[in-house]
Amino acid sequence: MKFGFYIGTRVIFGKSCVKENKAEFLRLGKRALLVTGRRSAKASGAMDDVIECLQETRSDFLVFDQVDNNPTLENVKEGGLKAAEFKADYIVAIGGGSPLDAAKAIAVLAVNPIEPMDLYKNVFDKKPLPIIAIPTTSGTGSEVTPYSILTRHDMETKMSFGNKDTFPELALIDPAYTASLPYDVAVNTAVDALSHAVEGYVSKRSTPLSDILAVEAIKQFGECLEGLAEKKISDSIREKLIYCSLLGGMVISHTGTTIVHGMGYSLTFFKGIPHGRANGLLIAQYLRYIYEFAEEKIKYILHNLGVEDIETFENTMHKLLNTTEIFSEEDFRKYASLAIKQKSSGYNVKNVTEEDLEQIMAGALKKYTV
Ligand code: NAP
Ligand code: ZN
Repeated sequence: MKFGFYIGTRVIFGKSCVKENKAEFLRLGKRALLVTGRRSAKASGAMDDVIECLQETRSDFLVFDQVDNNPTLENVKEGGLKAAEFKADYIVAIGGGSPLDAAKAIAVLAVNPIEPMDLYKNVFDKKPLPIIAIPTTSGTGSEVTPYSILTRHDMETKMSFGNKDTFPELALIDPAYTASLPYDVAVNTAVDALSHAVEGYVSKRSTPLSDILAVEAIKQFGECLEGLAEKKISDSIREKLIYCSLLGGMVISHTGTTIVHGMGYSLTFFKGIPHGRANGLLIAQYLRYIYEFAEEKIKYILHNLGVEDIETFENTMHKLLNTTEIFSEEDFRKYASLAIKQKSSGYNVKNVTEEDLEQIMAGALKKYTV
C-alpha cells in the first residue's frame, strides 16, 4: 500500500453546531465577510445563527450576498474587492457549493492583488483568508475540499483551482439548514454527493482510505434512496445526506472526480442543468464503460445502493432526476471536445478518448436526444 491522506479542514457536525461554537468565530478575528447566495443563507436559518454569534462576540461583519449559481470569475472578483475594502480577517461562507466555492476564490483575491484568471496558477504570495464553511445543501462537500469551481466563459466550461491553503479552516455542518431545500435541489445535490463517492471509489487515484469513506457515503445514500424517491425527506434522511456529502468531499479531496464531472460541466454550461443532475444522468453509462476495469467495485456499489444492476441504477437515477432537456449528436461532439481537456480525463481506470466521451453521452442521454 502506498498513499497519503490530508484534510485541511476541522469538522464540527451536528444540530445547533453554529450557535454552540461561537468562540470559533472570534478565534479567526473581529471582522468577517459573509459570502452567500441571494436567498439560501437566510432561507436555511444559517445566516440568522451566524449573525447572532457575530453580534454576541461583538464582531464587525459585512454581507456579500451576490454569489451566482455556478459562480464566474467576474463574480468572485467583486467579492474579493469587497473583502479587501472591508479589511476582513476571515470569511464565513454560507450556502451550497456556489457560495462555498466562491468564498475560496474571494479569500485568495482579498489578500493577493491578482486577476481572477491567475487563480489557476495555484500559487499565491499571501495565504488566503481563513474560511468558516457552513453548507446548506447536501451535495458538493465543498466545506472539506480545497476546490473552487468557477465558470469560464472564455473556455465555455467550468474549471477548478485550489491548493492546500484553500481548504476551509472550519466546517460547521448542521443538517437542519437543509430543511428549506426545494425537493428538486435536495435530489440534485444528493446525487452529486453520491457521484463524488462513486467516482472517487472507481477512480484511478482511489486509495484504501478514500475507499472506506466512499463506501460509507454510498451506504448512507442507499439508505436514503427510498425516501428520496417517495419525496419523504425526514430529519434522519437529511442527516444521512449531509453526512454522505461530507464523506464524498473528503473522497474527492484525495481522488478528484472522473470524466463524469468533466462531461457534466458542459450539460451545466450549455443547458443550464444543475451540477448534481448533470452527473446523475451520466454516471450509470460511465459505469458500463469502465465495467471490465472495475467489476468488483461496481458490484459493491450496486450492492450498497440496494439496486440489482446498472440498468436498475440508471432507471432509478433518471426517475429521480426528472429531466426535460433535449440534446443532439452535435451537442455531444462539442461537449466531448471540451471534456477531454479537463484534468479528470486522466483519472479514469479505462483511458478515455474524445470519441469514447461522445459515446458515453450518447448512450446516457439517448432518451433525450433528437
Ligand atoms: P448551489 O448552486 O450552491 O445552489 C443551488 C440552489 O439552491 C440555489 O438557488 C441556492 O440558492 C439554493 N439553496 C441552497 N441551499 C438552500 C437551502 N438550504 N434552502 C433553499 N434553497 C437553497 O448548489 P450546489 O449543488 O450545492 O453547488 C453547485 C456548485 O458547486 C457548482 O458550481 C459546482 O461546480 C460546485 N461544486 C464544487 C465542488 C467542490 O469540491 N468544491 C464539488 C462539486 C460541485 P441561492 O442562490 O440563494 O444560494
Ligand atoms: Zn460535484
